[in-house]
Amino acid sequence: MSRNIVILGAGVTGLTTALLLARDGTNNITVVAKHMPGDYDIEYASPWAGANYLPVAKPGTPSESYERNTWPELARLAQDLPESGIHFQDSVIYRRTKDTGTAVGDWVAELLKEDAWFKDVVPNFRVLAKSDLPEGIDGATGFTSVCINTALYLPWLASQCLKYGVVIQRGIVSHVAEAVKLHHTGRRADMVVNCTGLFSLHLGGVEDKAVYPARGQIVIVRNDPHIMASVSGTDDGPDEATYIMHRAAGGGCILGGCLQKDNWESQVDPNLAIRIMKRAIALCPKLVPEGKGIEALSIIRHGVGLRPMRTGGPRVEKEVIEGVKVVHNYGHGGYGYQTSYGAAQVAKELVDESLPSTLAKL
Ligand code: FAD
Repeated sequence: MSRNIVILGAGVTGLTTALLLARDGTNNITVVAKHMPGDYDIEYASPWAGANYLPVAKPGTPSESYERNTWPELARLAQDLPESGIHFQDSVIYRRTKDTGTAVGDWVAELLKEDAWFKDVVPNFRVLAKSDLPEGIDGATGFTSVCINTALYLPWLASQCLKYGVVIQRGIVSHVAEAVKLHHTGRRADMVVNCTGLFSLHLGGVEDKAVYPARGQIVIVRNDPHIMASVSGTDDGPDEATYIMHRAAGGGCILGGCLQKDNWESQVDPNLAIRIMKRAIALCPKLVPEGKGIEALSIIRHGVGLRPMRTGGPRVEKEVIEGVKVVHNYGHGGYGYQTSYGAAQVAKELVDESLPSTLAKL
């Protein structure tokens, strides 16, 4: 008899955790979630991500190991499985000294370093020559990253889960312990894995007050110069950012963005959208024909997502709540794709520790 597990949440965190547990062959898994791949909703962060791999973890933290251990799998998918919607892309990160200490500057502090901890993790890490820097830029690094077309990748992850026997169903729970009653077999689950992202703030039995949103706004356009580039800040405000990336397989070009802490606003700010588009063209004039401005951008969609931030970093831990064994995997902020496999591996180890091995052998 296998272990019956309910995973709450079908974002990148829940689906990756489900996939690793299902591949093991000893687990019988139900994923229960309010939002699924295909949905676009302010309560569902995953579809709004670019998404790329730009490490931001402080060295020596668990997040560093999550990011370090995620790269090999993302690279494998980009290399061998084009159907996952991930491709390699060269990335350049521009540093302006004046952004030090701003919200965005702090967020990307590790990413900007010329001796970054991940320089031997990603391929082709290099420091750009001063003579190659655009005006106003004090330094730059580059490396081979990936860009994930989330519109393809999330359904692909769900399909992989289905292939390994995971049952995926809609459901909303108000208390984490309720989820033990939602296993598709009708039997009480042996464990619940909590991957509810930002809503771990409100979920009964968890109500983690360290969790808060960091609002991101993006514009997805058809114009596509096939580049990935980011700047450490802008002159438009300390919580605004400029980044561009090209999604695999016709996914368009993502223009971002911002990092607005504690801002729950779900609607697009049209003034911010104009600033994002202008900054993107300034960073990459090839986005539009020579001499043209934002009127030459062909907009697919504007988007707003809430990054599930957590003071102290992501929570990947086990706990017993009202007699129910729970493993948490949430709080992955603006880095949930680039931490996804590393964090899910740890969550899986915690599941294995928490459930008696005899159960798996019965
Ligand atoms: P979510 O995707 O929010 O999923 C939570 C799941 O839990 C949903 O299925 C939801 O329905 C379910 N749920 C919640 N509460 C309940 C409940 N009570 N009952 C039932 N179900 C419930 N990351 C990167 O790595 N690279 C990037 O380039 C990047 N860019 C980003 C750009 C933007 C604009 C934004 C907003 C985010 C970006 N991120 C990026 C961050 C990344 O998107 C998130 O870290 C990640 O999506 C979090 O995934 P999650 O599965 O933990 O949460």
